[in-house]
Amino acid sequence: MTESNILPSKKKEDIKFENKLRPTHIEEFIGQKKKIENLKTYIEGATKRKEPLDHVLFHGPPGLGKTTLANIIAAEMGVQIKQTSGPVLEKKGDITALLTELETYDVLFIDEIHRLKTSLEEILYKAMEDFQVDVIIGEGIGAKNISLSLNPFTLIGATTRTGLLSSPLRDRFGILIHLDFYSTDELIRVLMRSSQILKIRVSNEAADQIARRSRGTPRIANKLLRRVRDFAQVKGEGFIDLKITLSSFEALEVDENGFDEIDRKILLTIIENFSGGPVGLSTLSTSIQEEKETLQDVYEPFLVQQGYLKITPRGRVATEKALKHFKTGKSRGQNSLF
Ligand code: ADP
Repeated sequence: MTESNILPSKKKEDIKFENKLRPTHIEEFIGQKKKIENLKTYIEGATKRKEPLDHVLFHGPPGLGKTTLANIIAAEMGVQIKQTSGPVLEKKGDITALLTELETYDVLFIDEIHRLKTSLEEILYKAMEDFQVDVIIGEGIGAKNISLSLNPFTLIGATTRTGLLSSPLRDRFGILIHLDFYSTDELIRVLMRSSQILKIRVSNEAADQIARRSRGTPRIANKLLRRVRDFAQVKGEGFIDLKITLSSFEALEVDENGFDEIDRKILLTIIENFSGGPVGLSTLSTSIQEEKETLQDVYEPFLVQQGYLKITPRGRVATEKALKHFKTGKSRGQNSLF
């Protein structure tokens, strides 16, 4: 598989960098205005009623702020948060242990909740609805099934696509929030905030260019800022101006749309190998050697939102806009793979 420099990463240093830039209070969270206003109302309501917040499901492409918001909710409610993710939970005991450790109104955050095993998902149903969990005491013939009461808690789930969640699980969330891609202006605000934390000067024109190439995604904006900072400190004057920004993007092969190598590969493969489409997801995935799930979660939502790709019942189609984009040759020239 090709490694893109803007894909989400689980590397320790990347996680540390992300945490440093993560807003901790709701007022610091940029964008998603209406959804944040509603969330504030729900939090205030629950606090007034002295109840846990309803279970919340965040859905949307990676890097839009799902984990950040889960942490913010816990901070606003004044409770602790326990974080885990669907693929990490293997045995029934893993999830039971987490649930029984929760204190009153605590938050349990499960990232990639769509990847939770069905047998573990079933434990969540009763826990979410009745704050109860079944445990087996003893072994063999004398083993007994007993119900343990849990402290009232809030489950926050995050998923890249709600369609991947079983409906019994989805139905148990009272609050469903879809996070949208961010506007250029919002991303400029994210970048300005991050540059203050990182103590690096960024000109307005540079921030505008970085924002435009960030695929509507704060995580990518921060990641690009970090990379451009390296160029500015090593090859530039120590601050981020337009000149060093543009030359960094050239070196990083990120074009003016924020397309990286894989975006170009997706669109050019459809255009050149499949006459513009339609082409099925599996065929496309094999052709460009990228996992289906990565294509669906990371790449396609942005290409569809920007009008370069259409997903039809018969497969993926490159739009007129994509054809025009590659005819200009701007991106083509930067693409080392074709
Ligand atoms: P997700 O869980 O959706 O993949 P995260 O919550 O981990 O995304 O966010 C990724 C990074 O982007 C974090 O470092 C965070 O600082 C930043 N970020 C996300 N949303 C915002 C926002 N609305 N305002 C400021 N920074 C944000």
